Amino acid sequence: MLMQLIRLLNSCHRFPGFVYSAARLNEGTKTIEIDVRPRIGSRPRCSGCEKPAAGYDQLPQRHFEFIPIWGYAVELHYRMRRVQCRQCGVKVEQVPWGAGKHTLTKAYMMYLAHWARKLSWQETARSFHTSWEKVCDAVEYVVQWGLAHRRLDEVRAIGVDEIAYGRGHNYLTLVYQIESGCTRLLWVGKERTEESFAKFFEMIGPALAQKIEFVCSDMWKPYLTLIAKHCTNALNILDRFHIVAKANLALDEVRAHEARRMAQAGYEPALKKSRWCLLKRPENLTDKQRIRLRDLLRYNLQSVRAYLLKEEFQQLWEYESPAWAGKFLDQWCTKAMRSRIDPLKKFARTVRAQRNWCAANSPNLYRGTLVSTTSWLKCTVKPARAIRTPSS
Ligand SMILES: [Zn+2]
Repeated sequence: MLMQLIRLLNSCHRFPGFVYSAARLNEGTKTIEIDVRPRIGSRPRCSGCEKPAAGYDQLPQRHFEFIPIWGYAVELHYRMRRVQCRQCGVKVEQVPWGAGKHTLTKAYMMYLAHWARKLSWQETARSFHTSWEKVCDAVEYVVQWGLAHRRLDEVRAIGVDEIAYGRGHNYLTLVYQIESGCTRLLWVGKERTEESFAKFFEMIGPALAQKIEFVCSDMWKPYLTLIAKHCTNALNILDRFHIVAKANLALDEVRAHEARRMAQAGYEPALKKSRWCLLKRPENLTDKQRIRLRDLLRYNLQSVRAYLLKEEFQQLWEYESPAWAGKFLDQWCTKAMRSRIDPLKKFARTVRAQRNWCAANSPNLYRGTLVSTTSWLKCTVKPARAIRTPSS
């Protein structure tokens, strides 16, 4: 059986200059180990200049993870040679299945990255019995590869998002190209800081940054500052998803606070099990939740007032003219500021500070433009998010 495996590998994943010499099944670790060795008489290539060079010595065995099959992990075992290169000196050889210090083979990274476009990174990691970090590594590799092999000069709309991972507050900044017909991940930055996002602009250079016409981002200050600085010709569209998420966060704060206060004062728990009734859009409620909401709306509660204000805010998306959308926003903000509900006032202040950008969010502007927001939403929602938000 294992010999058949070598024959299979030879026909689908064959590299000139190398042979698969043996395959073993390690029952303990559930791993298929495949030995690779150089073909006799083949010359190693220098990883610096990619030219053939004289052999120097051999390093201890390295393991490269290959695409798993039938629930078994697959590893290629190979002892890297070092070369004495005329130009570069003593260098480790270049192997066609691996890339630099990556422990995954190129084929496996491509494979993981392919699935990471369809599933969340967490689900991808789980499905293939690997770690989130390795999926991230694979995506990063493929993005780098894509950047090296693709032209960037026609990027006209980008979206910026961040995802949280791990238990602590670890973030990645992601930049997507979000034009209709072309949605792709352009860049992955470690952390979520102004410095890390600045590297994206370093990478694309000022000429390209000037050509960008639309930027989609959340209302996070450092993002906005950098976008305003680099993309001087761009219209920043704060996407609906992020704005609604912020409004919902404010509403949830009001509800939690009020529920706690009522419990302390010994009132009947009117707000019990009301969380999703208030956060979901009315059209998405279940029958039970709809009845619950109707009951709830009879109370004179801060949460109810906050809910009504939030629902009213959704009218913003109906406007076709930015001017009218702006007018609506002003009125709404005045109302929210008078509501004496602190989290909503805070939200209104944020909206007010970005008034023109928010107003530009009327769907009419999306329609007909090259920004494809639906695919943008699809790609932003996919990675596991830190903040759970109901469908907005
Ligand atoms: Zn060299």
